[in-house]
Amino acid sequence: DGEIEFDDVSFSYDNRSTALNGVSFKVPKGSSVALVGESGAGKSTILRLLYRFYDLKEGEGRILIDGQNIKDVTQRSLRKAIGVVPQDCVLFNTSIGYNIGYGKFDASSEEIEIAAQGAQMHDRIMSFPDGYDTDVGERGVRLSGGEKQRVAIARTLLKNPPILLLDEATSALDTSTEKDIQKALQNLQRGRSSLSIAHRLSTIASADVILVLKNGQIIEQGSHRELLAQD
Ligand code: ADP
Ligand code: ADP
Repeated sequence: DGEIEFDDVSFSYDNRSTALNGVSFKVPKGSSVALVGESGAGKSTILRLLYRFYDLKEGEGRILIDGQNIKDVTQRSLRKAIGVVPQDCVLFNTSIGYNIGYGKFDASSEEIEIAAQGAQMHDRIMSFPDGYDTDVGERGVRLSGGEKQRVAIARTLLKNPPILLLDEATSALDTSTEKDIQKALQNLQRGRSSLSIAHRLSTIASADVILVLKNGQIIEQGSHRELLAQD
């Protein structure tokens, strides 16, 4: 399971402007779809609707997971089926290992270790985030952008959902981090259906399908190779 389908989805936040306008696409089970387009094109709205931050009204189309309309799925099972990897994750002033296990209190140390390994963070389980400082409490935790994203990836590996929503950081990462992230993302996406707001060329190039959005509509779609061939 894990097939996603948007069927003629239109959405407006305020009834005046249109955030999405007749968007239809499928993410076949186990495949990766990358959303690209300028700011305001509708990428985040697609992820928010799939996660049901907002619900579609009558006549605004349908969103299906494995053929079932998500409005008929309980929030609880939807959250179980979908793992969200945000641009930036909340970190606590404690070890990286504990941060990875956060939210899954029944995880064994072995499970945490495997997840950390998948996210290329196994050498840091016992260490504390940079900037760790008992004096400043939880606000003192600091990691590089790439490390933060790998903690988020490890958390999601631990959760093990069939569907992934990824919001890639726009900030530039140094090349060593970039390699680690790429590997971690590959490990995470293997065997899962994923929908990404893609900023890195590596993510765009490795996606099975790229959807180019503009003003709430899909204006082009295809593999990286197909889209390059059109120009
Ligand atoms: P992200 O892209 O990181 O998810 P946001 O969700 O904050 O960032 O915003 C995405 C886009 O939606 C931005 O272009 C922002 O200006 C716009 N936006 C966010 N909230 C509102 C709002 N309440 N009213 C109008 N536009 C908004
Ligand atoms: P992207 O993720 O591609 O930057 P969004 O999906 O965030 O684009 O935004 C699509 C459109 O919806 C934009 O015109 C944006 O300003 C608007 N928008 C986004 N979030 C909100 C919000 N919370 N309230 C009102 N308008 C919003």
